Amino acid sequence: MAKYSALSLLRGAFNGQSHWQPAWRHPDPKASYDVVIIGGGGHGLATAHYLAKNHGITNVAVLEKGYIGSGNTGRNTTIVRSNYRLEPLSRFYEFSLKLWEQLSDELNYNVMFSPRGALTLGHSDGDMIRLAEKGDAMAVQGIDAELLTRDQVMKIEPCLDFSHDARFPIEGGMIQWRGGTARHDAVAWGFARSADSQGVDIIQQCEVTSMVVDAGRVVGVETSRGRINAGMVAICAAGHSGHVAAMAGLKLPVESQTLQAMVTEGVKPMVNTVVMTQSLHCYISQSDKGGIVFGGDPDNWPSYAQRGHAVTMELAVQQGLALIPALSRLRMLRTWAGVTDMSFDGSPIIGSTPVDGLWIDGGWCYGGFKATPGSGYLFADTLANQRPHEIIAPFSLDRFERGSPVDENGTGPFPNHR
Ligand code: FAD
Repeated sequence: MAKYSALSLLRGAFNGQSHWQPAWRHPDPKASYDVVIIGGGGHGLATAHYLAKNHGITNVAVLEKGYIGSGNTGRNTTIVRSNYRLEPLSRFYEFSLKLWEQLSDELNYNVMFSPRGALTLGHSDGDMIRLAEKGDAMAVQGIDAELLTRDQVMKIEPCLDFSHDARFPIEGGMIQWRGGTARHDAVAWGFARSADSQGVDIIQQCEVTSMVVDAGRVVGVETSRGRINAGMVAICAAGHSGHVAAMAGLKLPVESQTLQAMVTEGVKPMVNTVVMTQSLHCYISQSDKGGIVFGGDPDNWPSYAQRGHAVTMELAVQQGLALIPALSRLRMLRTWAGVTDMSFDGSPIIGSTPVDGLWIDGGWCYGGFKATPGSGYLFADTLANQRPHEIIAPFSLDRFERGSPVDENGTGPFPNHR
């Protein structure tokens, strides 16, 4: 890694950083690769990094139709946690969380992982029973979980509304202290820089427009920059998984829906953890710059638009303000949205497909950012060995045919949601 002294940073401020080296190359596509990955989000780039690093497979291209991180990777609310009840999910997300804990070292790049605690509020006895059940299930898996009384929650998040006439009374909560946030752009950039330095070609502005299938096997892709042959093709296209898989004649059990988020102007630290709730339609955290980040429900109807609907936003803000009334004085700076591929059991789809040579990493719904290092590691292992790694085996595409869904009512913070 290039070293920059204080003097060189000062020089850069005056000369537009003209002496800085690009962090990755911009190669033209080669005629053929061992592995072509469709999608330059965190998942595609992490898969490329681990293919090269763990398996020595470097003749790899990551094809991105826009710029890297321009999909959901650069649009999410950055929450990282492993607080699941079902064993296949908690095992997978805990594997991923352990990778997050040393990701900056792994990539020699600061991904600003911030384990500030992922707090889920309970608003009724029923909520508290469900939180206790989930905490027990996590503890059985060796995952940290602490059930909190109302007073304990008050100490952690004093700005929440604990008054007796609060719209959403707070009975207590459950916290995973090792959960938190990470800087999403840095995750894409860190994986890209590392994959590139190991020989992977990251090709931006290169849209896959169709698949080349010969005798039932995918042998390449047609792109906006010409045909590229491939030993294997891996789809990491998130909200566009269904569209891309259809190019090979596959109909995936996913629906693309818009998910939005919002951020306010920056203020001094006031929200200490990531605050989610067991029964509302909003969650809140504070960015490192001080902005209060709100997230809510998906828009609930199919769309490829990267912009959202006002009603969904309004609900998230209304509930957020009811939880922390002091936020009502803040000005909202920005809202944005991403296209998520909602699977029908709320769990991801990783592994082989009925088309030879075609593999998939998708169905992440609204929770795939925290999966990024874990899925990259395990998907790379799966591609290298041509069989599902045992941790991701429960998430195979054929589970829907076999009647073996992994259904925890959605992989996001909302219990009643797909
Ligand atoms: P992406 O980053 O979307 O990458 C896919 C890439 O494929 C895109 O860059 C796209 O341009 C490219 N592509 C698509 N079609 C083609 C094609 N034909 N040819 C070439 N390239 C193509 N998850 C969490 O864990 N925690 C959160 O707090 C969280 N909050 C979220 C909030 C919002 C508002 C949104 C939208 C999502 C949130 N998520 C969260 C979900 C998370 O962002 C995604 O699951 C995750 O980023 C998916 O990563 P990815 O690399 O698979 O997809």
